Amino acid sequence: MKDVSENDLKNNLPLSTVRGPKRHMKVGGQILGGEEVMVIAGPCTIESKAMILEIAKQAKDAGANALRGGVFKPLTFPYGDPLAQPDADSGQPARNRLEVLPLKDILPTAERRLGYMKEAGEKYGLPVVTEILYASTVPMMEKYVDMFQVGYRHMFNSDLIEALSHSKKPILLKRHYGESLRCMLGVVEHFAARGQKNVALCERGITANHTHNINSRSIMDVQAIPALNELAPTYPVVADPSKSTFRREYVPQMTRGAVAAGADGIIIEIHHDPERAWTDPLQSLTFQNFEKLMRDVRDIQKIVRRPQ
Ligand code: PEP
Ligand code: MN
Repeated sequence: MKDVSENDLKNNLPLSTVRGPKRHMKVGGQILGGEEVMVIAGPCTIESKAMILEIAKQAKDAGANALRGGVFKPLTFPYGDPLAQPDADSGQPARNRLEVLPLKDILPTAERRLGYMKEAGEKYGLPVVTEILYASTVPMMEKYVDMFQVGYRHMFNSDLIEALSHSKKPILLKRHYGESLRCMLGVVEHFAARGQKNVALCERGITANHTHNINSRSIMDVQAIPALNELAPTYPVVADPSKSTFRREYVPQMTRGAVAAGADGIIIEIHHDPERAWTDPLQSLTFQNFEKLMRDVRDIQKIVRRPQ
């Protein structure tokens, strides 16, 4: 993989690597890239209205700045899509997990659950962040979300780049675990060249042969944080310790490390009953662990983010 060259800076990445102060990116009523680290917390998947309301309350009480929650999940395998299941508290029996529904059949559930998250976010004053998978859903999702996440699987998705370039909502762009910072900045440049500069750069782990096992899916490239701050100083940098470690035992340490390394934001999974989470049960933090971690984040932030 190539490093960013002088030629890239001049001819391939002039907009994404422009020198200047960090952009204070508005996410709902919050600022990403300012003095305070933006902590985006919530479940991997929105399982019911009661659940997202409870998680939003706990996130707010612990001092989080924004709420995350997934409806469209980029599944490794086609089975068990949460959007094909009734809400956790509906009382309805689970459907056959092997049944794969077409997009038109999961859209009403997706929209209803996005509504739950918007309501929870509004109730507790937290802007909401969720992943987009299909460009055709931009207009529907824009009614509910404050920030679009483009997951690592869609880093190069031309339909999403084109559609989101025309959105007023900011974007959280995740780097694929096998891609270089140069390639990620190339995607940022694609957005910028289309007029979309409201992009935050998210580090969510890289893989090497010896890390790619069931205990720890990938490792957080902590060094990518200062590197992105150096290469693209106007763009906020976010770290995802949940996805990168894939293990709740490692999440607090890597969160502290990411904040110490200069991350402007953290996106983290929390759940009222992590082991029973519909998706990613191994990495979600309990409310108690999250609350403790938030205190550390604010302490470290005081040391590394002194006002200039
Ligand atoms: C997520 O945040 O729930 C997610 C699936 O993200 P990633 O693209 O990092 O896997
Ligand atoms: Mn997840």
